[in-house]
Amino acid sequence: MGKLAAAIYGVKLMAKIYKGKFLIPIFAIFPFLLLGCSSAPSIENSGQCTGKIGIARNINLAQFKSQNFGSIGFQKLDLKPYEVVLTFDDGPTEDVTPSIISTLKDNCTNATFFMVGNNIEKNAQIGREVLKSGNSIGLHSYSHLSMQSLDNAAQIEDFEHVRQVAKNAFGNKFAPFYRFPFLKNTDNLIGHANDNGFNIMSVDVIAYDWEVNATSETIINNVLNGLEKNNNSGIVLMHDNQKINIETLPKLLDALKAKNYKIVKLEYRD
Ligand SMILES: [Zn+2]
Repeated sequence: MGKLAAAIYGVKLMAKIYKGKFLIPIFAIFPFLLLGCSSAPSIENSGQCTGKIGIARNINLAQFKSQNFGSIGFQKLDLKPYEVVLTFDDGPTEDVTPSIISTLKDNCTNATFFMVGNNIEKNAQIGREVLKSGNSIGLHSYSHLSMQSLDNAAQIEDFEHVRQVAKNAFGNKFAPFYRFPFLKNTDNLIGHANDNGFNIMSVDVIAYDWEVNATSETIINNVLNGLEKNNNSGIVLMHDNQKINIETLPKLLDALKAKNYKIVKLEYRD
């Protein structure tokens, strides 16, 4: 029951109980007082975040409109040493995404989810849950085909398709970030995306979480070693369609925190 509905219900109930008595006005007001003061404290203020990795700062990419980032293919995002950006590709999925959302929430932190259009169509509600807990959404093609396998017109068609699907599902709440499937860029689509105000977001560190033999340990090692090779900072690529990440993410966040890494959130505010 929503707060307002609860308040109205409370008024009706109390009016029934105290019908005809002078107490009605006092008790009738009480449920509405609750409306003003019953909102839960934000996670950050409640003390539940003490000792959690949290978020060190936000980077608003609106200040870097149409620029492209990630040392695999582009310039490195301006991160300080020990700053990490978490990204999850290929969702939203029923199996994995809800658990990733809840682990991030438990650790008072956020990530950017690069979503595939045909998965947004299947799991739009899960996509909206991603947004609700403060994460950012970028786009990762409609079909997840390599754009290098498509002619110029088909690349743009795929881009516009996922853009429309995201608009249908999220309104204007997704960010103009685009990541190429398999990180296989094409100049044609980089140009079209940049002309439309999108940042191409590549990566610095690959978790290799899709490999057949991937375990939590190999994934965490890949991330920590990758960060070390990138001056101890970078955009990390993981996937929210890989079940192994359900058990890996809590351990990874602990491992990052133990090494004094901090999480930076990417966002887009005009
Ligand atoms: Zn992908």
